[in-house]
Amino acid sequence: MAELGFEFNENWQAWCLVCRKSLERPYRTNDALCTTCMNRYRSHEFFSPIAEAELASSFVTIIPEAKDIPEVLLQYGCRDLLLRSRGRLKEPRDALKELFQAKLHVPCGQPALFEMEHLARFSGLGGTWVLDMSPYTWSGTHKDLRSWAVLSQAIEHDVQHLALWTAGNAGLSLAKLVKRWNATVPPKKRKTVYCLVDASTPLDMRMELRGPYCRVTSISTGAGAILSREQLYNVVAAMAGERIEREGHWQVTDGWDGVGIFMYSLLAQQCLTFLRDELGKTGKASAKVYIILPLGTGNILFGFIRGMERLGAERAKIVAAVPYGDHMMRPFLPPPKEERKNGPRMSRAPSLAPKMTGFYSPLSPCLWHLTEEKGFENPSPVEIIEVDRAAQLEVAARVSGPDDTKIIDAEPSALIAFGALKELAQLIRTHGKEGDLHNSVALVVNSGRGIMNAEEKAFYETGILASR
Ligand SMILES: [Zn+2]
Repeated sequence: MAELGFEFNENWQAWCLVCRKSLERPYRTNDALCTTCMNRYRSHEFFSPIAEAELASSFVTIIPEAKDIPEVLLQYGCRDLLLRSRGRLKEPRDALKELFQAKLHVPCGQPALFEMEHLARFSGLGGTWVLDMSPYTWSGTHKDLRSWAVLSQAIEHDVQHLALWTAGNAGLSLAKLVKRWNATVPPKKRKTVYCLVDASTPLDMRMELRGPYCRVTSISTGAGAILSREQLYNVVAAMAGERIEREGHWQVTDGWDGVGIFMYSLLAQQCLTFLRDELGKTGKASAKVYIILPLGTGNILFGFIRGMERLGAERAKIVAAVPYGDHMMRPFLPPPKEERKNGPRMSRAPSLAPKMTGFYSPLSPCLWHLTEEKGFENPSPVEIIEVDRAAQLEVAARVSGPDDTKIIDAEPSALIAFGALKELAQLIRTHGKEGDLHNSVALVVNSGRGIMNAEEKAFYETGILASR
């Protein structure tokens, strides 16, 4: 399949996400396992059955890295797409034109960075800021930043058919962006999106995705069977009802994570640079910064890790919030204390975060790698905090009101990051010295609010009212 061997232009260099080495050649979407790194994790019980099979190629440890990242991306705000900063405004397309040669002039909306004082009072921390990605126009989530990059590449390479696996938001985002693009171009330049959803996806969510230039089909994967690209190509060809030239068809899921991670890494650098500026203005230049973000498949997390690595000494400590219960890190962490004991027990209730549960991520080997390094005091290792239903409900009421404070648009999965605030404060108390808590600032990444199932909608109708 043409798409399997698709190679980006030479501004996009392949770079291993685990061993942090450049492969010194352009990024390809069929880059999967870095051999050196694979040999390190193939003996782990989670990977060993898969490593023997061809499916090992589903795991991605390679991301693209811009050959020369323009310094301007860190120093200036942007009119669209990335953060805006007063007095530091710069056209983003000037900065990104080397990387995105299609120059996609479709607005995408813009994230915002602001302080939420009442969350600091709630958590006990010295300050609480939010990077809010809900203002993105198309899906109202972080997926729009990735979709913009994917569509830009598709335009540059004249690819008409874009297929992706989606839990909802990624498909919604790309479909709406493509619909807008199609409205302004001649028919032969129009693109079609094919959303592949799991058979358990409710009908109303599928209906919401379906529309002009967006076709939806569900695939029963049972207990998480991973289909090969060849199988998926056949599904997409059947949906199209016509012969699709393979050259004109991309699957923008596995292998394309790198593109999203790259975009988040730019945002992460910009975000921390601006936050340090703001803290400096209020005499908090020496504050320790903790970035709390939701961990689903790991795209935002690795974007931020990469961004922090580029910033070096200026970096912040990253805290990944996961839902209590099933989540992507579960195979790599020790079992919860409650599960180790036999007999009747009190237990914490799993939180509601359907977009963050599951055990397959193309980034799994990288997630496993994160558990190798530990230490709360050291900024390099990522701290994992599990957020249960009680913590999620408690913070939902704070984030969605009361009405005289700032209100955040966050779906239940996005609330998991906010739900980790109190636990973070507790960790700082336990590990730190007197005064550390006051000198700590949390930046919570809000992934936004996109398409929701009935249970997620009910969470807002019942959960929040009950806690007021
Ligand atoms: Zn490697």
